[in-house]
Amino acid sequence: MTYKIEVDRNGCIACANCYTVDPAHFEGDSEGKSRVIGGQSNGTSTGTFDDPKIAEAQAAESSCPVNVIKVTEEKQLSRYKNCEHEHPASLAFSPS
Ligand code: SF4
Repeated sequence: MTYKIEVDRNGCIACANCYTVDPAHFEGDSEGKSRVIGGQSNGTSTGTFDDPKIAEAQAAESSCPVNVIKVTEEKQLSRYKNCEHEHPASLAFSPS
């Protein structure tokens, strides 16, 4: 399963919940703010993963007291990414 993790670092309060709950996807920087392992470290830290560990990332998302973590499955995107046909807007990917 492919999924994307985003952390809005501007809103992070460095509580350490996410990287305590899920050290496989998150780490703290020198100020204790979260970033996605292997991801960017500017305003928004983002990483895309393809493994069966989305539940751990979602647990970290739920643990964030200021809701700055977003975990999005990209299963539907990958299904249509190589298709050259037009699709109605109802089939467009929309994260829940
Ligand atoms: S749980 Fe939220 S506020 Fe706490 S370190 Fe992680 S991203 Fe920052």
